[in-house]
Amino acid sequence: MNETSAGRILEQAGIEATPIRRAVLAAMAGEDRAVSALEILHAVRRAGPVNKVTVYRTLDLFVDRGVALRHALEGRSLRYCLGAVHGSAFHCHAWCRRCGRMECMPEAVKELGVAAFVESLDMDVEGVEIRIDGVCRRCRRAGKGALSPAVPAASGRP
Ligand SMILES: [Zn+2]
Ligand SMILES: [Zn+2]
Repeated sequence: MNETSAGRILEQAGIEATPIRRAVLAAMAGEDRAVSALEILHAVRRAGPVNKVTVYRTLDLFVDRGVALRHALEGRSLRYCLGAVHGSAFHCHAWCRRCGRMECMPEAVKELGVAAFVESLDMDVEGVEIRIDGVCRRCRRAGKGALSPAVPAASGRP
């Protein structure tokens, strides 16, 4: 994301574009997945020292103004991603239960017919959450991807 589009997103959300807010935005924009606040903090800190609380407050502000999406995952830290960067108000996610990677899938909105369905609703839709849970290709290849227990209890073999 360049400086101009970052500035435009913040402006449209009525958020003053401070250097830290731009950096938080850039940290999310550079990913095709939802990232934790800690990952965002590390990315922002690469550019210079910043208070953890400032980054957390920035994320709260972004969520409040609809710039960022916040996702709660069982047993994992909260994840954040941008809505606007994908060029649509909402997108779907694929979540790997093994490694915790949460991929943003902007194309799925179209493929699943979500946009058309939303338009057919007599409702002012403010958000859509569709999460596909499973085991990602990398984890499956690593051999820890079986959804059922690797050693069935009844098998009697090691
Ligand atoms: Zn995985
Ligand atoms: Zn996302």
